[in-house]
Amino acid sequence: MKVYRVTEKKWTEYVAEILKEFKVFAPVKKENSTDFEEITVEKIGSIYYEGTTPSTPLKAFFFPVKENVVATEQKQARVILGVSNCDLAALDLLDNIYLGGDFMDHCYKENRDHTIIFGKDCDDLKETCHCTSYGLTPYCEKNCDISMSVSDGYCYLSPLSEKGETFLGQFKINDNEVFDCLPEKVIQKRTAMAANLQSQNINIPDEKASRKGIEKENKELWKRHASTCVSCGACSMICPTCHCFLLIDLKDFEKVKNWDACQFAGFSRVAAGEDPLMKLYDRLKFRYLCKFVYKPDMFNALACTGCGRCIDACIGKINKNEVIVEACGQG
Ligand code: SF4
Ligand code: SF4
Ligand code: SF4
Repeated sequence: MKVYRVTEKKWTEYVAEILKEFKVFAPVKKENSTDFEEITVEKIGSIYYEGTTPSTPLKAFFFPVKENVVATEQKQARVILGVSNCDLAALDLLDNIYLGGDFMDHCYKENRDHTIIFGKDCDDLKETCHCTSYGLTPYCEKNCDISMSVSDGYCYLSPLSEKGETFLGQFKINDNEVFDCLPEKVIQKRTAMAANLQSQNINIPDEKASRKGIEKENKELWKRHASTCVSCGACSMICPTCHCFLLIDLKDFEKVKNWDACQFAGFSRVAAGEDPLMKLYDRLKFRYLCKFVYKPDMFNALACTGCGRCIDACIGKINKNEVIVEACGQG
């Protein structure tokens, strides 16, 4: 692996250079969270690489909340900085659905093609972060163009794609700042973060055990947890892997793709008003089946990356991990 080292100060100069040609989005610190914002020269200093996963999932860049699928305007090239691995891992599923198989979504493809992604090491944990429960790491080794680790005043940039290699090439970084591996200090930091996640989440079942638990009938359990669900759909909107949408025809031949969620009443309603997911507790269980059973069977990818956002966002205080622990423990 090739690793380019630049000082943090130099890196801010490079970001200013990038801004001349690209739109740049990066995490910025908010009161109790971080979120992606469009960066201007004045805002470069507020980019926050150290925080936990930004509130908005990466999918929103490729599969926006609302998108006119017949629009013809040219997309501007963009760079997204500071993406966590739980968001990058979701691309295994989304790319498979929207780029692979029998059908390709041209909007998703264009959005992907126009974007350079910088992954980052997670340096901080929320109590709901649990990527390691599903075999993921709190740092990235794929699904981004450049992986970035910040340590001791330096940024370590590792190209993970041809696009990433070409992109870094423009900075003409001196040969004596190019290494063939990350420094020991960064590797130790990564290992310590993974160990912290594992010990924080020691009781969370892995994907196989979760699947088994969710597949049991357990009607009483789903009814009880669904009793506080208000069908707001936040758990799906904020999830990096959820990808359901409605296609709506508007006037002047506008055709809009709009996010949908299986927790909404009417999500599965068909002609004559029939609805297999009419009951809220069936919809709640369906969400878990989608993530741990249907998507792995159909696309060979788990539809949960352990980002913890659905737990943070649920106003019904439904904790996905507590539901699964309980489902696994019941006969
Ligand atoms: S969990 Fe629900 S909203 Fe998310 S992808 Fe599955 S069916 Fe769609
Ligand atoms: S189901 Fe929840 S924890 Fe899993 S990826 Fe979606 S939002 Fe994150
Ligand atoms: S976020 Fe919570 S309350 Fe809202 S639909 Fe999801 S489970 Fe129900």
